[in-house]
Amino acid sequence: MAVGDVRRKTSNFIDDITEELKIAYMEDARPWVIGFSGGKDSTALAQFVFYMLMDLSKKSRHKKVFIIASDTLVEMPSIEDRIKKEIALMQTAAYEKGLPIEVYGVSPVLHDRFWVNLIGKGYPSPNTRFRWCTERLKINPTSRFVREKVSQFGAVAIVLGSRISESSTRAQVMEAYRIEGQRFRPHRDLTKAWVYMPIQNLSTEQVWDYLLTVDNPWGGDNEGLAMLYRMASGGECPMVIDESTQPCGNSRFGCWCCTVVDRDKSMESLVASGEEKFRPLLEFRDHLRRIRDEDWARMNTRKNGTAGKGPFTHAIRHDLLKRLLQLQKEVDEILIQGDELAAITEMWAIEGQPVDMVERIWRHVFEEEPMPEGKENPALSKEEQLLEDICMEHNIPFEMMRRLRDLEEEYGSLRRRHGLPDLMREAVKSSIRE
Ligand code: SF4
Repeated sequence: MAVGDVRRKTSNFIDDITEELKIAYMEDARPWVIGFSGGKDSTALAQFVFYMLMDLSKKSRHKKVFIIASDTLVEMPSIEDRIKKEIALMQTAAYEKGLPIEVYGVSPVLHDRFWVNLIGKGYPSPNTRFRWCTERLKINPTSRFVREKVSQFGAVAIVLGSRISESSTRAQVMEAYRIEGQRFRPHRDLTKAWVYMPIQNLSTEQVWDYLLTVDNPWGGDNEGLAMLYRMASGGECPMVIDESTQPCGNSRFGCWCCTVVDRDKSMESLVASGEEKFRPLLEFRDHLRRIRDEDWARMNTRKNGTAGKGPFTHAIRHDLLKRLLQLQKEVDEILIQGDELAAITEMWAIEGQPVDMVERIWRHVFEEEPMPEGKENPALSKEEQLLEDICMEHNIPFEMMRRLRDLEEEYGSLRRRHGLPDLMREAVKSSIRE
């Protein structure tokens, strides 16, 4: 195909999507929440939305667009830096251009964080059978933001950059939730939230064509993004809002410590292409994965008291914390936060470990350097700790009960509770699936 034909084809789909976005934006008063993961698809989507709003008259820009970047707090350090830079540029550009865009970062609450669960509670490293992380690290922070906006505005539309051709599994999941002839479909779990995927039919080539031939409207670095993709391999981690948007895992924009995949080929490719700084992170991840199913690494009683492979033993948790802090020192990046150390201290103390154990391990690695202080924010509130104890006693999944409690609270003040039983049923079902 001649170069001119390629450009004409590119501009056709750009015009089509921009027009489609304008119609969808003007259609109603629901503000948009856009998931931005820093990958090519969500960058393309944000770019489309910027240009669409720039095309509209000031009067027509009648509602807000919230762009949210989810930070699991275990993002690959250099990716995290990149996302932070991009969202800062976005916010400045939106302000200067007078666009109704607001940019936010969202991250998991303390008791949902990766190290608090893995090192504090001893949850075994996540795998496909026990993937305890996606909901805590990715879904919950976004859901909280969406719920807050729903209560503020009455309803919202979540706009995602998911694409059918990104993976066949994702295509199947997207197809299962699609409603023929409708732009927006209701969110599976969040009431008054709708999901819209305007670039779902674009091919990967079209996305790159768009990113590399059209200037980034907030001054972002699309060339740098392309370079990152050239160095790594694997699929992209989309913004995960529920199970219908397909969890991540095998992706370059996933967590650096993700053990859901056998091998982290993306990080391996980065190391192979000369990014040596990732090697120690990769080795730590491999260690986490290796010990996961070893009998000697796990207690022989489950959390609910029944016999079987339980959480990581305390000795293993101590060793993991030591290795993580040594890694933090080696790569000179903050890998675990002060709050998380405080939460782990508290959790270990509840399980009968010496109260200064975390501090002892810290001193072993950092010697005189003071341990960062945690805020006065316990990992679980007293009420939640009690709920967790009761759940353990009765062998009921704590996360399910917490979700049911959240639903009850959400609907508690409403006179009509239409839809609540369905949501509760779904919460129970998804807990069984997990
Ligand atoms: S990238 Fe891996 S560790 Fe992170 S939330 Fe997804 S599945 Fe879990």
